[in-house]
Parts: sequence; C-alpha cells; structure tokens
Amino acid sequence: MDFLESCPCSGGNLPRFVQPALLAVVAREPLHGYVIARRLAETGLFGEHAPDVTGIYRMLRSMEKDGVLEVRKESSDSGPARRMYAVTPLGLRCLERWLASLAAHQEHLGRVLRFVRSARDPRKSGNGVEVPAEDAVFLEGVRRRAMEGELPPRGDILRLLSFAPGSPQAELMGVFARQMARETAGNTARVWAAIGVDCCPCAMNCAFCAFGARWGVVRRAHEWSVDEVAGAAVRFAREGASWIVLRTTEHYGRTRLRALAEAVRKVVPQDRALVANTGQMGPEEAAALKAAGISVIYHALRLGEGRDTPFDPAERRAALARAGISGLKLAHLVEPVGVEHGDGEIADVLLAALEAGAEVCGTMGRVNVPGTPFEALPAVSGERLAHIAAVTRLCGGVRTPYICVHPPLLQAVEWGANVLVVETGAVPRDDTEVAGEWRDFSVRDAKEMFRQCGYVVKEGEL
Ligand code: SF4
Repeated sequence: MDFLESCPCSGGNLPRFVQPALLAVVAREPLHGYVIARRLAETGLFGEHAPDVTGIYRMLRSMEKDGVLEVRKESSDSGPARRMYAVTPLGLRCLERWLASLAAHQEHLGRVLRFVRSARDPRKSGNGVEVPAEDAVFLEGVRRRAMEGELPPRGDILRLLSFAPGSPQAELMGVFARQMARETAGNTARVWAAIGVDCCPCAMNCAFCAFGARWGVVRRAHEWSVDEVAGAAVRFAREGASWIVLRTTEHYGRTRLRALAEAVRKVVPQDRALVANTGQMGPEEAAALKAAGISVIYHALRLGEGRDTPFDPAERRAALARAGISGLKLAHLVEPVGVEHGDGEIADVLLAALEAGAEVCGTMGRVNVPGTPFEALPAVSGERLAHIAAVTRLCGGVRTPYICVHPPLLQAVEWGANVLVVETGAVPRDDTEVAGEWRDFSVRDAKEMFRQCGYVVKEGEL
C-alpha cells in the first residue's frame, strides 16, 4: 500500500466532531436513536460513508451516563415505549462550550493553513495569493539586511507601511515577521507587567493622557504605598512576568523612585528586570537608578510630540541618544497610535527608537479616553496595529528581539509580537484606577495567547 494512503496527511484521521453534532441534532427536539443516526448522516460530516450506527448508540449511552443527555420514554400504539434522547441543562452548557472550542479550533486551523501555504511557496501570502515578484524580493531584502544587523532606510519603512491591510504583501510580511521572532528570540515570548504607582492631575496636559489636568478625568492625586507596589510586583513575578515596570509620574520624584526600586528589587527574583519610565536624565542619575536595581528604562519620542504634548521633540531625541549610552537598556514603543497618524510620522518615530538601540520595541494603540481631546475619534484598527508590529519586527531584526503590542492583539502576536503588557494601578489609558488587571487581561491570559500562537513562554532569565 502506498505509504501516503495511511499517513495522517490523507486526512483519514481528522476529527469529525461527532459529539457536538449529535448534541446539536438532539438539542432541536428529543429523538429516537435511529432518527439521530439518520440526521447525523444528513449533516455530511461522514462524507460518503454512513455513520457507524453501533458507535452512535454507544456514544448516546455514554453521554446519557455523563448526564448531558437523558432518556424519555414515549408510549407507542404499535409496541413498547420508545426511548427518546433529549438534551439536559448540562448538555446545553456542554454545547455552548463546544461552540467556543470549535471556534478556537477553526482559528487555529486557519493559522496552520496559512503557515503551510506560505511554506509551500514563500512568494505566496497566507491566503494563497501571489505577491508581486518585485515586492517579494523587496521584503526578502529587508529581512536579510535586518538579520545582518542593518537598520533600514526611512524609504524602506515607508514602503513596508504602505502595503494595504489584508493585501498579499502585508500577509507575507506577517509570515516573515513570525519567522524572524523564531530566529531572533528563539521563538520565546514574555510578559511586561506595569504597575501604575501614582497619578495626579498633570499640568503637562498631553492630549492623549487621562491624567492631563485640563481634561478633568483624574481629579485627585493618588498613589500606591511601597508595600502595595511590592505586593503587586511579587504577584506578577510569581505569575511569570519577565519585566516589572514601576510607572511613576514626574511628580513622584526621582529620590522616591530609587527608594521604591530598592524595596521592590529586594523581593522580586533577580532574573526579572525592573523598569522605570523616565524623562530626561543625566549620567549620574542613570547610574543611581542602576544602583537602585533598575536595568531598563522606558523613554519614548511620542507620536505628536510637541503638538499633542508640550515637550520639545528635539530634547526627547537627545534624551534617547543619551539613553543609549547610559548603561541601561532601552524600551521604546511607537505610541500612542491614532487613526490620524500617517506612515511618515510612524516611520520617523520607529526609526528614532531603532537608532537609539531599543531592545524592546513595538507599538501601542491610543485609547481615546472619554473627556480627553481624542474622545470622539475611533481607535486605530487592529489590522493597522498588527501591521506596525510586523514592520517593527522586520526592521528591528537581530537588534530588537522583543516586539511588544498593546493593547493585546492576537493578529500582532501571530505576526511576530512576542511581548504583551499587563497593567494595574494608575493607567493613563483609563479614567479609573485599576485594582486588578486593566481590562481583566492577566499574565495568565497573555501566556495563553502566546501559546495559541506557538511561542514558548519565558519567565525571567533576562
Ligand atoms: S503623559 Fe505624562 S507628562 Fe503627559 S499628561 Fe500624562 S502624566 Fe503628564
């Protein structure tokens, strides 16, 4: 017999999901066993073959024993009472869970299909549509140069950003980005856990920030105690976060930030990185932060800097350049992305992050908090955000192993984003302080999303 006849690639062993189909048949009305078998045959789930009736009766009895089906006796004029199978309340719940599981399975199959198609012919996108040769060669060139450590010119970034969402070029770029996550980060993924230590009405009034005093969203100052922050940090570390971010406002003060970092460093495992978000700072200050246990700083040239914020973009760029030589690692996302941001502005900020040597890069969509100047605008689409994440992966290459997307987004993770953010406390994207996790997205949820996309989740070892 031909080997391939018995190989799983023949599809002979693919599951037919008889149980959910059977539940769905019986959920419509109580039925006798032989009618159930006939209805199942009509579903087309068994191809040309009639379903195995003995097997179906065996399954009905087993489902009755499990309590998802019950038997009702129906009297008959022509003989003994007939056994009619009906769905129990437990069976209805089981059917609901099947719906969710099948939807997840369908999504997973779609991903497998896209991946296999792309391997068959790398010039084809995940949808099987051919990418024009010129674009395929361009994408391959960007990837190769990034893997050799070269930064792309601005023109290349613009061309990558210009591919239309859903186009074969964008799909192929996503496939390349996922492959690069395997090659540059060993297919690992990590969680970035941010603790919003304090908030207060801030006189800087950045248009995208809920803390801006002028918007009246945050009316009073509030901060977590050292013990509360340390408790959250320990919990996040225990759950598997790799980075613990102490996110403070300018008003918190650097001396207090250092004291806080020292306290948290003592209780969090040494292989977890402590992160602080900083404004401008000199070498002495960087050294002091390092001595307090901080190893990564988050500093960014924001989209709309100088327009939506009172900060001078040139000074932010200078601070980024200094960050590169401070001895601290740098994290810099392209953020906060709104619908009005064009490719040119995004390319400039991305290039600034890459030139500054950001080890963690990626993108964050703007959340248009009610009460802030952007409240009337829609959020940027997930497709656009996933596209920017993939472009970042393609351009960052070996220089940027960690690509982050926030808020969490499955398509971006499928396209090479291997860092997800979990937040608690004061969140500048929300009008209330969060006691648990922002939008209920936990470390566990992040790890699950990574696993769904085939990553190996790393905890610590930074
Ligand atoms: S982003 Fe920072 S500086 Fe700007 S308003 Fe918010 S807290 Fe203030």
